[in-house]
Amino acid sequence: MLLLDGKATAAAIRAELKEEVAAGLAAAGRAPGLAVILVGEDPASQVYVRNKERGCEEAGIRSEAFRLPADTTQETLEVLIDELNGRADIDGILLQLPLPKGLNSQRCLERISPKKDVDGFHPENMGRLALGLPGFRPCTPAGVMTLLERYDLSPSGKKAVVVGRSNIVGKPLALMLGAPGKYANATVTVCHSGTPNLAEECRQADFLFVAAGRPCLVTSDMVKPGAVVVDVGIHRTDEGLVGDCKYDDITCIASAMTPVPGGVGPMTIAQLLINTVISWKGRTGIAG
Ligand code: NAD
Repeated sequence: MLLLDGKATAAAIRAELKEEVAAGLAAAGRAPGLAVILVGEDPASQVYVRNKERGCEEAGIRSEAFRLPADTTQETLEVLIDELNGRADIDGILLQLPLPKGLNSQRCLERISPKKDVDGFHPENMGRLALGLPGFRPCTPAGVMTLLERYDLSPSGKKAVVVGRSNIVGKPLALMLGAPGKYANATVTVCHSGTPNLAEECRQADFLFVAAGRPCLVTSDMVKPGAVVVDVGIHRTDEGLVGDCKYDDITCIASAMTPVPGGVGPMTIAQLLINTVISWKGRTGIAG
């Protein structure tokens, strides 16, 4: 079985980005800039933000973190977003979710300029994805697509099943897989909590993507022999991090699979860095 090593692939991407940034630095007149906003003390979010800052550093991106207290008001947060929207040295704005209770995430996401929306969550960018127009793509599904491409695994003409229909993973991933393109062009089925026979649907998949947020939901009897399996789920358990798939059992059946950790997680951050560098190139006019 082929291990789809997101950790190694993300490290290679960071090294490539570092070279790209170094090559464009003189013409651009400045390094790429990413603003990261973290509100409150959520421990998982703090880890994600730290990993994103580290990724930026390795790729030659200047990251600026804004750590705000949990009792920050909607107005204060929106004023900060407006200020960052207006700053010439900031190419991307990332608002770490979830926000503490009382803050309206959707309103904040819509406040971020679509031109700096490197997370790809603004309705304009989601709309552009649905229409097949260029725009920032959400980092987790785009990271999954990048991983397939790096391993030369093409779902074109194959049957893909996506388990999950969330706005940040399942829905955009289904759109990306079904779009035209060498590493897309799949026939896509989306399963969700209302799907009556999940196992039967999953067994049809040449490419199975699981983003249900349920630990070990997908077992080996739900996987077609030789399928490519991508596990997006992450769960902290007493035995460490696990995904939405029963990894050990499925590795005996699948032809390729992502591990948890070290699969989709690092690719999500790598994609954020890619999006930030794309934004920087466009905004400084050095895009080729
Ligand atoms: P979510 O809870 O918003 O959505 C889960 C989806 O799965 C829903 O659409 C639901 O209908 C579907 N679902 C739930 N139970 C199901 C079942 N029994 N059968 C079929 N469908 C079912 O979650 P999300 O934000 O999309 O995240 C999914 C998982 O991916 C979580 O474990 C999350 O932690 C992880 N995640 C990882 C990364 C990463 O960078 N690796 C990024 C985002 C999310």
